[in-house]
Amino acid sequence: MAYTTIVIGGGIAGLTCALALHRAGIEATVYEAYDRSADRAGVYLTLAVNALDALRAADVDLRGLGFDTPRITMTSGSGRTLGELPYGTDAGTGAGPSGSGTALTSRTVRRADLYRRLREEAVRRGVRIEHGKRLVDATSSDGVVAASFADGTTARGDLLIGADGLRSRAREIIAPGTPGARYNGLLNTGGYARGITVDSEPGMMNAIFGRRCFFAFTPHPNGEVWWVANPPSAVEPSPAELAAISPQEWRRRLIDLFRDDRGPAADIVRATEQVFAGWNTYDLAPVAAWHNDRMIIIGDAAHATAPSIGQGAAMAIEDAVVLAKCLRDLPAVESAFAAYEGLRRERVERVVEQGRRTGGWKAVHPAASALRDLVMRLGMSHLARTGNDPSRWIYEHHIDWDERVGGVRV
Ligand SMILES: Cc1cc2nc3c(=O)[nH]c(=O)nc-3n(C[C@H](O)[C@H](O)[C@H](O)COP(=O)(O)OP(=O)(O)OC[C@H]3O[C@@H](n4cnc5c(N)ncnc54)[C@H](O)[C@@H]3O)c2cc1C
Repeated sequence: MAYTTIVIGGGIAGLTCALALHRAGIEATVYEAYDRSADRAGVYLTLAVNALDALRAADVDLRGLGFDTPRITMTSGSGRTLGELPYGTDAGTGAGPSGSGTALTSRTVRRADLYRRLREEAVRRGVRIEHGKRLVDATSSDGVVAASFADGTTARGDLLIGADGLRSRAREIIAPGTPGARYNGLLNTGGYARGITVDSEPGMMNAIFGRRCFFAFTPHPNGEVWWVANPPSAVEPSPAELAAISPQEWRRRLIDLFRDDRGPAADIVRATEQVFAGWNTYDLAPVAAWHNDRMIIIGDAAHATAPSIGQGAAMAIEDAVVLAKCLRDLPAVESAFAAYEGLRRERVERVVEQGRRTGGWKAVHPAASALRDLVMRLGMSHLARTGNDPSRWIYEHHIDWDERVGGVRV
């Protein structure tokens, strides 16, 4: 269908959606609140195989970005191995997007590099991206959407896709009164350590369930060590309180949190020149209405997922591609939105729920950490014996671009 589409948000969901719409022959303009310097947004992220599969459907190539992350190993703060799993990879395990035809390996990339690649690809294909456009309101009547921005300008189109993240304005417009972000009880920080040797092969994600704090590190093949830490905090710090913590103070706090743990966490923090400013972690309770007649939300705007499960970007990318297919294949916006929700809601809500449970494992009281470690170890050895990976359904998701929504191949 020859729609003119307003995409709000030039993050992962918005840019991927514009790319997939372009592939479907649908015109889209992306309106992003910030200017280009907003690229820093976070440290790095791992794109699981289902995210890579969806990017392939949008014809996006990540070659040259980041490094393969084929496996994840888990240890306790006492240094005991809890288990090792493929990071959703095809390699020899059968996990990974079924029917995708090619083996995929999860990939760890700097967030800013991923944004840049998506943006450059969008520009190369002729997608318009307008910066400094913060959505403040939108209305629809007679099949036309009118969006207004904080700078006083407006845009008109046949439909609006809100890909404006956790604190979405589009969500407030479509579903007024919907509860906002849910604090997860964990903070997040991280960094890139240099000049340190760790006992791990490059690309391996090492997750350490410390007594007081979760830590994960992945050696880059170039010798850097990329890491994150999740200090628990029952009380949600305000933005001002977070901003008041200097990198030196983060370093001091983290080293103290890891004081009784075995493993390299404290040394990796010491070897990091600039510990990143921390932020709170959130998810979103199920949002009852994702769309009205002409506007829809996707990605974090619709179903933000706790970072613990490493699937928020993956869900945003899958959303973007599935929505583009629905708009390509169905005769009207309303039927495309309904089909999209039918294809997406159950899956993303299961992922959000699993993310909450995973986050819970990281936030246990130190007195309960030995019990947690025991339960995890038993669970992991059961998994190794039976091969019954409870996360497999997440990674096995496959999007066939050439299959029409409804089942027929184009
Ligand atoms: C610490 C942390 C670690 C994570 N690690 C992983 C991981 O390893 N793997 C993974 O898959 N996911 C991970 N995630 C989740 C992932 O980052 C998000 O799910 C993903 O960024 C969501 O993409 P999005 O495009 O929906 O939202 P965003 O990336 O937040 O993009 C939203 C965009 O909309 C813009 N915007 C906001 N409001 C407006 C407005 N009113 N008008 C116009 N534009 C607006 C914003 O500036 C932004 O560019 C992690 C998240 C966190 C916090």
